Amino acid sequence: MPIAVVDNHTHLDIEREGVAVDVADLLARAKAVGVDRVVQIGCDLPAARQTVEMIDTYAAMLGGVALHPNEVPGLAASGSLDAAYEEIEELAQHPRVRVVGETGLDYFRTGPEGRDVQHESFRWHIDLAKRLDKALQIHDRDAHADVMRILEEEGAPNSTVLHCFSGDLTMAQECAERGYYLSFAGTVTFKNAHGLRDALSVTPLDRLLVETDAPYLTPHPHRGAVNAPHLVPLTVRAMAATLGVAVPTLCEALSENSERVYGPW
Ligand SMILES: [Zn+2]
Repeated sequence: MPIAVVDNHTHLDIEREGVAVDVADLLARAKAVGVDRVVQIGCDLPAARQTVEMIDTYAAMLGGVALHPNEVPGLAASGSLDAAYEEIEELAQHPRVRVVGETGLDYFRTGPEGRDVQHESFRWHIDLAKRLDKALQIHDRDAHADVMRILEEEGAPNSTVLHCFSGDLTMAQECAERGYYLSFAGTVTFKNAHGLRDALSVTPLDRLLVETDAPYLTPHPHRGAVNAPHLVPLTVRAMAATLGVAVPTLCEALSENSERVYGPW
């Protein structure tokens, strides 16, 4: 990348094909191609604890902690949701945890019986982000209307990010009007992702972020392989082509937006 960019959402705590990640090596490989910083997201209690350890070790890394919407029904069923909230709130106080996330709604992997508790948890995380003045990162899978409604009802935090944006053009416009940030992942490079590229094409430059969601969602032409932050440039170049802007112009915007959302580091 001609100007260094940030991978806004990555999971370097997750094993790759059964092998633990060499975090220092992955960060070095990313830096070598102009991805100089990452936002590490821990989305259950063990991952959130690990995230706090990792941000203390690696200066290039900020952290996010939350209970993923697919984790919440199980925690509620076992009676441990309140204790989990308490620990997330404690971990989120760390000065380099700058994100509450990923929280949100997932109607794909969780059935209708899990929706009430997902809604309640989403509202709790929105409130936490506002109380601690951290950015909010939202996971939204097949739940666009309810995500937008609940954000409106609760009042969104100052920095609200739709991670791995998956909405259509109309939703992208609505998000931009409300001042939310749209973080695009490798999915935007997929051959059949015409609707997603239409959404990207109407998103103002000052609302855009880029991410890997590694180890998932590897961009074309490596789709299906294990993802990592050093593959972000593939997504950035595809985004620039869709937007019709020069790569350095987009990189500058992505970099500025990341610092505006999370603060400098
Ligand atoms: Zn994720």
